[in-house]
Amino acid sequence: MRIAEAFGRGRPVVSFEFFPPKTEAGFRSLYRTIGELKHLDPGFVSVTWGAGGSTRRATVELVARIQQEIGITAMAHLTCVGSTPQELGEILDRLEGAGIENLLALGGDPPRDQPGYRPTPGGFTYACELVSFAHTRWNFCVGGACYPETHPRAPSAEADLAHLVRKVRAGVDFLITQLFFDNADYFTFVARARAAGITVPIVPGIMPVVSRQNIVRITALSGARIPPELAARLELAEDDPVRTLEVGVAWATAQCRELLDRDAPGLHFYTLNQSPATRRIHASLFGE
Ligand SMILES: Cc1cc2nc3c(=O)[nH]c(=O)nc-3n(C[C@H](O)[C@H](O)[C@H](O)COP(=O)(O)OP(=O)(O)OC[C@H]3O[C@@H](n4cnc5c(N)ncnc54)[C@H](O)[C@@H]3O)c2cc1C
Repeated sequence: MRIAEAFGRGRPVVSFEFFPPKTEAGFRSLYRTIGELKHLDPGFVSVTWGAGGSTRRATVELVARIQQEIGITAMAHLTCVGSTPQELGEILDRLEGAGIENLLALGGDPPRDQPGYRPTPGGFTYACELVSFAHTRWNFCVGGACYPETHPRAPSAEADLAHLVRKVRAGVDFLITQLFFDNADYFTFVARARAAGITVPIVPGIMPVVSRQNIVRITALSGARIPPELAARLELAEDDPVRTLEVGVAWATAQCRELLDRDAPGLHFYTLNQSPATRRIHASLFGE
């Protein structure tokens, strides 16, 4: 199913994001997680593309297996980093050959372990180039990323939005946001995007805080701001894993409830390949 067709049918499109594990044990555990989340009847699941293209094979195999064997619509992430257009074309061929209809086209980040990194000669730098390329020979439903708190490398919020407009015009059917903890950032961003002429669904990306280490890592990677009230609640949890998880689940549940009440088209959960927090939030929202 093409993901864009799932929006606007009177039901929020709930999706779960996974990353390809590095070990066999990790894959076994991931398939258990996916099995547990399948009961929640997601609109789709997505599989990330490793930084620097490190998981290319695993991503293609995983989306194919999830869709063909587990029976959930699966979307592959793909970045411009580390691949020539010819290599990207070969990946798109393989995805299409496996029956994958949905692609999240991303610019990607320069590899952190290569300080002098330069884009692949003849390759693409920005997601909009990959979006255009994917429409040259293939027939994917294409998603793109967007940033309610502005992309960390953008010179300004205005420039970031202008680039987003260009990316959507290149052929993006829906957007998924970077994770955020303050819904005001999402609502303000959606209003700005609509004023700039972007009409495609903008799905909020949600990541519940599940541990102290997790929040430090996520905020460093995403640049997401922790609102003072959430920071105070985490402080009160005093690094206790159970209490921290309770705070994270309660916060994300309240975020999701308000987002749906105010007409967000769906919810995209960054699951970190684990199901408990996401299942609890889902149960609170949808009673399953
Ligand atoms: C939902 C989601 C999923 C993600 N999945 C992955 C994943 O699987 N693998 C992975 O490695 N990373 C992933 N990322 C991270 C993403 O690759 C990084 O945030 C990356 O830095 C930007 O990707 P983008 O597609 O948003 O890039 P772009 O749309 O290319 O934007 C990147 C930056 O360049 C600027 N820009 C865009 N076009 C131009 C232009 N023409 N000229 C000048 N500046 C321009 C933008 O304003 C922005 O600052 C994901 C992010 C999100 C939100």
